[in-house]
Amino acid sequence: MNIFDMTIHQLHSALKEKQLSSVEATTAMLARIKAVEPQVGSFITLTPEQALTDAASADIRIAAGKAGVLTGIPLALKDIFLTEGIRTTCGSRILENFIPPYSATSWEKLKDQGAVLLGKLNQDEFAMGSSNESSAYGITRNPWDTSCIPGGSSGGSAAAVAAGEAIATLGTDTGGSIRQPASHCGCVGLKPTYGRVSRYGVIAYASSLDQVGPLTRDVADCAIMLGAIAGHDPKDSTSVDTPVPDYTASLTTGVKGLKIGLPKEYFIAGLDPEVQVAMDAAIETYRRLGAEFVDISLPHTDYAVATYYLIATAEASSNLARYDGVRFGHRAEANCLLDMYGKSRSEGFGAEVKRRIMLGTYALSSGYYDAYYVKAQKVRTLIMNDFMAAFANVDVMLTPVAPTPAFKIGEKINDPLQMYLSDIFTIPVNLAGTCAMSLPAGFSAGGLPIGLQLIGKPFGEETLLQAGYAFEQVTEWHSRKATI
Ligand code: GLN
Repeated sequence: MNIFDMTIHQLHSALKEKQLSSVEATTAMLARIKAVEPQVGSFITLTPEQALTDAASADIRIAAGKAGVLTGIPLALKDIFLTEGIRTTCGSRILENFIPPYSATSWEKLKDQGAVLLGKLNQDEFAMGSSNESSAYGITRNPWDTSCIPGGSSGGSAAAVAAGEAIATLGTDTGGSIRQPASHCGCVGLKPTYGRVSRYGVIAYASSLDQVGPLTRDVADCAIMLGAIAGHDPKDSTSVDTPVPDYTASLTTGVKGLKIGLPKEYFIAGLDPEVQVAMDAAIETYRRLGAEFVDISLPHTDYAVATYYLIATAEASSNLARYDGVRFGHRAEANCLLDMYGKSRSEGFGAEVKRRIMLGTYALSSGYYDAYYVKAQKVRTLIMNDFMAAFANVDVMLTPVAPTPAFKIGEKINDPLQMYLSDIFTIPVNLAGTCAMSLPAGFSAGGLPIGLQLIGKPFGEETLLQAGYAFEQVTEWHSRKATI
């Protein structure tokens, strides 16, 4: 088996049994990156020296018998995670030369376990997008078909896992940015409950929606990664102080008697027939495994995309005000302060980010605040209530992740509304603040992966992982490899 195709748990066993060293594994990953990167474009910044230094320290730790499951495992991070001393751009020109003075808590936790950093991954600028086409550092291509998008905004994080360029990665999900690229690239991706994982040191897009989560090759790896990053962080006041279960230990619980809801609003006429076929097959598989299905309704689903694009843009316009050319980031030459602000921002931000800032500023302006922002907050509560009412009768929900498999590069870039609609099934989960996972569940006739989404109760990640694991034991979708 190729080293670059291994899962975390496989590589961990190989390292522990001294079949290979972390330096060897890391060297193999760097060679793989060199070979496929020209076709895929997952990375913005590579950190080969750092990686080999990390790997050498990991080998010492392994030799001393002090290895954890992540010790010596080569990982990569979306370029939204601050990494001390390593350039962090968030996909934007405005942060082209930004070297953070500290690291994100989630990366600190992985590093403490001895993980190896291969580099920083491409993404849509400030995580705004569904196709990875809004990055200032070029597009990322889908390893299954390089004429297609990998999804976004964590497109580099998904493509790297699918192309064998990292064993696992971290992404962020504000409206679907972990789950949709995971679905398009055939990976497992989990958006934890709001508050489950610290966002300290993660560049903010929409603070009431953003969450950090893993993209991996299978569910067992997803459980390992989530267990490593979850938990209370005094540096993030929105992180919740509730115990982190041992996600790995409970993986084999099974789904017998599990009640799975099928929200009727997610199985609509516009759904791609191949996605529908994959969903039907998954439902059948779960039935055979002993799960029960219940038809449910989430009646305010229709309003989710509009609500999201008011709340997310409002928060973005406020979060992005800090990029003014004064404290950090790109600064333009100008004759006076106001000109400097204006020029720095218009040179530093791309078109989609500017669109979002304008939409958000408009929604927050006096005179429109009540009609747009306050109204959106009220609808958000209705959407949240839909989920809580449905969860009184079911343990999890099963839905598609995206209405279609990955689309062609360029297909939606000039039609923002079409692009926004591609997140129709993922956005409501962020508005409700709960957790959801994307799982490989089939392929289109053209060979593109199709993901299924399992939505859990708040802090119900354990149930999602158990249900995902049970599915993986009887299907082979997750073990197919992109032939890049
Ligand atoms: N595509 C959505 C957006 O553009 C979601 C992005 C995300 O989850 N970061 O806002």
